Amino acid sequence: MAPPIYPKELESMKRMWPSLLIVAACLTLPINAAETKDKTTPAGKPEAKQGKESKEGKEDKSILPAPPRTEGDGPFKRLILRGATLIDGTGAPPVGPVDIVIEKNRIVDVQVVGSPGVEIDAKKRPKAETGDKEIDLRGMYVLPGLIDMHGHIGGKEQGTPAEYVYKLWMGHGITTIRDPGSFNGVDWVLDQRAKSVKNEITAPRIKAYIGFGMGREAPIVTPEQGRKWVDEIAAKGCDGVKFFGYRPDIMQAAIDEIKKKGLRSACHHAQMDVSRVNVLTSARWGLTSMEHWYGLPEALFTDRTIQDYPVNYNYANEADRFGEAGRLWKQAAPPFSPRWNEVMNELIALDFTIDPTFTIYEASRDLERARRAEWHDEYTLPSLWDFYTPNRQNHGAYWYYWTTENEVEWKNNYRLWMTFVNEYKNRGGRVTAGSDSGFIYKLYGFDYIRELELLREAGFHPLEVIRAATLKGAEALGMDKEIGSVEPGKLADLAVVEENPIENLAVLYGTGVVKVTEKNEVIRTGGVKYTIKDGIVYDARKLLADVRKIVKDAKDKANRPVLYQPGMAPKAPVPAKPPGEARE
Ligand SMILES: [Zn+2]
Repeated sequence: MAPPIYPKELESMKRMWPSLLIVAACLTLPINAAETKDKTTPAGKPEAKQGKESKEGKEDKSILPAPPRTEGDGPFKRLILRGATLIDGTGAPPVGPVDIVIEKNRIVDVQVVGSPGVEIDAKKRPKAETGDKEIDLRGMYVLPGLIDMHGHIGGKEQGTPAEYVYKLWMGHGITTIRDPGSFNGVDWVLDQRAKSVKNEITAPRIKAYIGFGMGREAPIVTPEQGRKWVDEIAAKGCDGVKFFGYRPDIMQAAIDEIKKKGLRSACHHAQMDVSRVNVLTSARWGLTSMEHWYGLPEALFTDRTIQDYPVNYNYANEADRFGEAGRLWKQAAPPFSPRWNEVMNELIALDFTIDPTFTIYEASRDLERARRAEWHDEYTLPSLWDFYTPNRQNHGAYWYYWTTENEVEWKNNYRLWMTFVNEYKNRGGRVTAGSDSGFIYKLYGFDYIRELELLREAGFHPLEVIRAATLKGAEALGMDKEIGSVEPGKLADLAVVEENPIENLAVLYGTGVVKVTEKNEVIRTGGVKYTIKDGIVYDARKLLADVRKIVKDAKDKANRPVLYQPGMAPKAPVPAKPPGEARE
């Protein structure tokens, strides 16, 4: 029942990483390696158009870049946000009313101007001068702009134009993302990053972490080649490197070179390499962050050295891969055991960052929740829906026969995993918020908010959740002097919401939350109201309305008003038999 595989290509997957990384995105190794080989492409060109043939005659893998910006007001010479309750991202409790003074793109002052429930004395407030812009935020909450540490900018397989992805992020208060792998191509991502810096497009700040080896025509086979590749992407101005694992001597040399160049690194320790390099190995070499969780249970093994794979396991069969992953944490040293403590303490001493991306595995423990999330109706593109739909070839579509047994294993898996992550935070370790959206029924923006809820479920106080989503992310990116908290001197990246996100993180969802009023009316409330990036004020709801229009247009064009659940689409009509033909 396994999908077709090509043993030769499979065996040499790591050597054919250029196509692999571009096609694969971060969770993946493609099932059909032979097919992906043909999709190899050089890095996308600036201004690359979707689907264009490159000079070499190969298909361009990059998505449509964002159009010039038409959204947002500002930056202003001086902008004063009046009367909000501030959640500053440092871990300090909410405080308000405050006035926040912004000059151009920078916060210059934050003043507590009164007490809750008492009329504010106007004399004690920062004065507005002629030409200053003031926004009344009484009753609202201000947070630092959120940071998605695992934000793929869509992909051609998902059929997601960059504008769609960016507006879903910005519509949820996300003002910075790290693109782990930058699979639309080095030049493509650097072009988008530069345009975001200049606010020529409506997009979060972009940190470009390049898939190790991307852009080369041949595999890296020596440590020297690894170093040279790092030097090249450093010279291009990239921010960091994303690994999936690699031959240990080469990966170690590459990480060493990354540090020398002042870049940063992230690794999804894919099972194909994890028996040689687990998170403790790479953290000792100087890796900045681990993505997801693979490589961590392996570092915690005490009675085995390799995961207890069934004898007929095949990594390229994603039902094997994800099904068995759900049985992995229980093979590791139990919580608070000597080995568990020892590994945790060493990782913390190494200043190692954990970016768990709890949300991306959620469908494994609760498929129906992820698949039926209410935002799919209006916000999920038909092409993305098709990419999610059960399929033996698409990445993350491993629902060939996902059972109650699988979900229960995964729920138990999560308990052990969350216990580690929460205690890691408690002992001073850095935990960030990343979503890995665009796979496994997880949507940009919306499922970042879900990640915040899952950090809460892991045991984080809501203020610890917000700190993970802001200041901790900024630290991991090396940007904490500029962003990550609402403090004078930092860039004006903020999210404004009308409801209290500490009381209920779900108010950050673009679809809002349901309330029943005193008059017994059912209403929707919440959703981010303003996203402020670099002092430019965006109407977050308008950005999400733009996304709904993109989706509606795509549905109209495809004549698909409904995204059918798997196996529920009406069968194509049987063609009528030609007249005169005998009927059975
Ligand atoms: Zn990823």
